[in-house]
Amino acid sequence: MRSLFFFCLCVTVSGNENGFDYIEDSYRKYANKNTDPCDNFYRHACPLGSPDGLLFEVFSNFFKEKLEKLPNLLNQYSIAFDFREIEKLNGPIKQLADLYQDLCEKEGNTSLLLEQLEPYFSQFPNTCNGQACLLYIQKDPDCQRGADNLRGTIRRFPKIHESYSKFSKAFRKFLTVIKVLYVHVEENVQNGLQQTKYLLAEIKEIVHDWIKSTPWAINNNVEDATIAAISPTIIQENYTDTWRSSIEELGELDISYKECKSRYNNFEKANVLCFFLVAMKYNDLAPSEFFTETETFISHPYIGLSFENYYIAQHSQNMASKIGYVGFTIGHELSHILIKSTVGDYLTYFSKAAKVCIQNQFNSTCEEFKEESCVTGDHQLDDNGADILGAQLAYYVLERHFGDDLMEIHKSLGIPQQQLFFYAIAYMFCDVSIVSRFYDQKYCLQGNAGKTSINHDGTLDEHSADYTRVNAVMSQLPGFQKAFECSEDSRMITSATEQCDIYGKNAPENKRH
Ligand SMILES: [Zn+2]
Repeated sequence: MRSLFFFCLCVTVSGNENGFDYIEDSYRKYANKNTDPCDNFYRHACPLGSPDGLLFEVFSNFFKEKLEKLPNLLNQYSIAFDFREIEKLNGPIKQLADLYQDLCEKEGNTSLLLEQLEPYFSQFPNTCNGQACLLYIQKDPDCQRGADNLRGTIRRFPKIHESYSKFSKAFRKFLTVIKVLYVHVEENVQNGLQQTKYLLAEIKEIVHDWIKSTPWAINNNVEDATIAAISPTIIQENYTDTWRSSIEELGELDISYKECKSRYNNFEKANVLCFFLVAMKYNDLAPSEFFTETETFISHPYIGLSFENYYIAQHSQNMASKIGYVGFTIGHELSHILIKSTVGDYLTYFSKAAKVCIQNQFNSTCEEFKEESCVTGDHQLDDNGADILGAQLAYYVLERHFGDDLMEIHKSLGIPQQQLFFYAIAYMFCDVSIVSRFYDQKYCLQGNAGKTSINHDGTLDEHSADYTRVNAVMSQLPGFQKAFECSEDSRMITSATEQCDIYGKNAPENKRH
């Protein structure tokens, strides 16, 4: 596996063909070269004054600029074009009744409208004949009165409104996913994508060996069960097929929408009705979750890598940057399966000593570098552990690839190239705001600089604050001290607690009694 990945890297090591190098650019622009990385690495790499949410800012601008330059694909679909106005309206009730009134006053065809609405707004849609359900309304010559009656009837069906809102939300997301996929396709990040697959394969191979030599796993006979939990993991990466099927699906919705519009002679006021009918017909619309700008997550067995991972794998010039960023991301996601924090997790057994070790490190880092608040909750164990183990796995990959060249000086930056590994991790988490920006975070690798976010329901977010995540991870990597030649009394080293070898031959014993 190693040789396969190595081959892949050899052909792409030049990187940066018509792209930018996110890691090196960020280092050049934002790392404060006047501060000691061994003092507070996070604030050395991401000083106050650097952009808030650097990763998000860089890549959302990148998407915006790309989409501005590309022909506007969505405008070719009437349903997508019209949706810009439809979504501003507060539900379909008023518009459907207004449409009735309009058609009625212009002596248009109200029968068609009422017949189309009947299946959704009748008490007995299967048994009534049209006259008895909604069609009786048109017998009233007063169009305003008829419209009011229809409005009242429509209001009585909250489930239909819920279903409409659900579809609207899904459709909005569907259009966003299509735009994101469009950029994947136009940027052609296949090369970067291949590298992420090789990285996952290599990390899985390493994990496999580590599990096999882990004393607590051996002593409790859970090596095979643990390996079986990670074996099926794959990256959900087929953006080309997802792109094709999404466009096809949009085309199908558009045909249905346009057919309806043509029955009303493309009368603009029929837009909401036609969108409503599409919503009822395709209420199972479920856009892919796996393709995003900067939001990575795992939904076992699939890892959804966000776009910037493919981009960084493809355009970063130095291997240390790629392994630091993408290797850590994949390592983190895979590690979610390998840390057991609740009974519902995948593992059947996990080391208690490893849990304590992980939380001790986060506590220590949090106390030492405290910004706005410091919290190490039990519910954060999973993510804290995934950070530590993910970084250990990525660093092991780095060592395998660089061998004795880890301290070789980077030609243009003048620093040991392996330092880019550590900067790459920091540039995933650069934030300066002390106010939560991401509520109810479901994604692993976004956070807040100075404090743990509070979710809408008042619970603390499962991710530790960014300053804690980055500095705790660095303190747990012996390679960090070497790469930056940190003295024993520097804060990054004194805040390091005992080495947390969660898996591998140095992991705790945990004999079962
Ligand atoms: Zn996570």
